[in-house]
Amino acid sequence: MRVLFGKAPFEFEWRDVPVPDLQPGKVLVRVEAGGICGTDLHFLRYNDEWTPLGHEVVGVIEKISEGIEGVAIGDRVIVENHAACWRCKECKNGRPQYCENLTTYMSDQAGFSDYLVVRYDMVHHYDPKQLELTHACLAEPLTVALDVTLKADIKLNDEVVVFGPGPIGLMATKIAKLQGARRVFLVGSNNSTPRGAHRLEIGHRMGADVILSYEEHHVAETILDAVPTGVDRVVITAPPRTIKDAISISHFGGIIAFNGIEYGAGSQITFDANEFHFKKLQLRASHAIPNHYFPMAIDLLTRRIIEPDLLLTHVFSFDEAKRAFQILTNPEEKAIKVVLKNS
Ligand SMILES: [Zn+2]
Ligand SMILES: [Zn+2]
Repeated sequence: MRVLFGKAPFEFEWRDVPVPDLQPGKVLVRVEAGGICGTDLHFLRYNDEWTPLGHEVVGVIEKISEGIEGVAIGDRVIVENHAACWRCKECKNGRPQYCENLTTYMSDQAGFSDYLVVRYDMVHHYDPKQLELTHACLAEPLTVALDVTLKADIKLNDEVVVFGPGPIGLMATKIAKLQGARRVFLVGSNNSTPRGAHRLEIGHRMGADVILSYEEHHVAETILDAVPTGVDRVVITAPPRTIKDAISISHFGGIIAFNGIEYGAGSQITFDANEFHFKKLQLRASHAIPNHYFPMAIDLLTRRIIEPDLLLTHVFSFDEAKRAFQILTNPEEKAIKVVLKNS
C-alpha cells in the first residue's frame, strides 16, 4: 500500500509498505480522504527527517479484530489521531486530556495512506448521506477549533477577538458567535493577497462582525477604539507574537486561549508581565491531543451549523498531493481547507 512521507524543504515521497497487521483490539480502516493541516506544512518546512503526513482521516472499516462490538465492516468512519489510554493515573483521576500514555497512529503510520490500523474506539461513525466524505474531513480540525474556543470560556455578550483566519480561526469565529459573543473581531495578517482576502471574506460569512488585518490596521489600537475598556475573550489561532497584542487589548479578568505553534525564533515572545498581573488575565494553552468533541463536531457539520462548503476550497487525488500542498501554501490561491481523496 502507499504511504505519503514528507520532509523539509517541501519534499514528498510515496512509499510502498505492507498493509499493517491487525492486532487485537484494533480495526483496519481503508482511507478514503484526508485534509491537509498546518502541522503537515510545519513538517515540510522545518523537519529534516522523513515524517508520515496526514491526520484528518475519513475512511471505511475493512477488517475488525475478534471480540469488538459497535463497529461493523463497511462502516463509514472519521478517525481520531490521538486517544487517551483510560488506564494511566491522569485518565483514572478523570483528566484524560492530560493522559500520560496517548495512543496515536501518527508515530508510524500516515493519514495519507491506503490503510490505517487504529484502536477500535478511535473511529466515529458519520452518515455519508447527510455529510459528504470530503466535508467529513473537517471534523478533526473542528475538534481543534472547539478545544481552543471552549477554553476561552466565552459568556453571553462578551466582546471576542479571534486571531488567525485559517480553518481553525474561521471555525472559532462561528463557535464564538454560537456561544453568544456580542461581537467577534477577526484579525488576519493581510488582506492584499488572494488567500488573505478570501479568508477574511469567509470570516464575514462565518459571523465575524469586524475584520482587521495587520497590513491595513494598527490592530490593537483599532480594537481598543471600538472597545475602550478592552475585550473579554481572545482566541489565538496565529503565531505566538500575537500574544502581546492579546494582552494589551484584554479587559480586566480577560481570558486568552492559545493554539499557535511556531518553530525557531518565532516561538520566543516578550510581553508586559505587570499588565498581565494587574489585569488578572489568564493565558490558556490548547493542544487538542487527545482530540475531544468529535461527536459535537460531526453534529455541527452534519447540520451545517459550521458550513463545510465555506471552508473546503480544494479537493485533489492522492496522486496530486504535491500540487495540493503547493496550492495551500501559495498566497495567490484562495485556499482554506484542501482535501486529498484516495481515488
Ligand atoms: Zn492538524
Ligand atoms: Zn491515560
